[in-house]
Amino acid sequence: MSRRLAIIKIGGSVITDKERIFTPRIDVINGIARELSNALNNWRIVLIHGAGSFGHPLAYKYGLHLGFKDRNQIIGVAETKLSMIRLSEIVVESLVRHGVSAVPMYPMDFMVMTDFRISRVFIEPIKMLLSLDITPVICGDTVLDVKHGFGILSGDQIASRIASEIGADRVVFGTDVDGVYTSDPKKSVNAKLIDTITPSSFSEVIKFVGCSTSSDVTQGMLGKLREALILAEKGIQVVIGNMLKYENLRLLLDGNTKCTRIIPNELQT
Ligand code: ADP
Repeated sequence: MSRRLAIIKIGGSVITDKERIFTPRIDVINGIARELSNALNNWRIVLIHGAGSFGHPLAYKYGLHLGFKDRNQIIGVAETKLSMIRLSEIVVESLVRHGVSAVPMYPMDFMVMTDFRISRVFIEPIKMLLSLDITPVICGDTVLDVKHGFGILSGDQIASRIASEIGADRVVFGTDVDGVYTSDPKKSVNAKLIDTITPSSFSEVIKFVGCSTSSDVTQGMLGKLREALILAEKGIQVVIGNMLKYENLRLLLDGNTKCTRIIPNELQT
């Protein structure tokens, strides 16, 4: 039987210290690489990672998420890209050292946005890499936008679009908390984990969900949840869980640990 296909998105909050600029969490990256190497026995995987402190502070400084406003932003496009190449290299190097045939891919090269949503994607190389047993590693990036010149494309949006394009069996959003709570768990000790969210309960849940830091240009947990919902509506199984605990990678793939599941209305019991 051919291995099922999973899209795993690891947040910038997992692989970097979001409070300290350009600071990778090497131990977590290595832990994830080891777990992913094992998971490949049972799954084909596309790995997507966020930008964390390698991307958000620069994107915010130059207003890249607002689209083209003036020439002063242009050097910011270059600086942000360079920084993301460095982060992606750290991730890919760790994967290769753990025996994973991983290659980096940058969305600016094969995706275009319209109004900050992906409007075109050249998906064929990803499918071909997977058929060769090569693991594509795609990062959040500055992407050209036909209306705004450019914009910031989140790893969350990439995960949702690629999963829809290639028909993933499972999508895992790994972040630095155990899932979606009734309020930000970093700010409230009374926050309770929500174990299941459906398209119908989404409007209630959205009231509780906020961004992570003021410089987060991709809407934090709210952006993630919106993407997860798009997938659930297409019948793709989605979980949001904690990947700072990297042993969770395989457990989340099987839906076998503390997390939030996002499911279509009809599957709710
Ligand atoms: P990542 O970088 O992993 O993609 P983000 O930092 O964008 O993730 O979003 C995760 C953050 O969202 C958490 O660290 C948490 O502080 C914040 N957050 C805000 N509201 C909630 C909520 N209701 N439930 C869970 N996390 C929340």
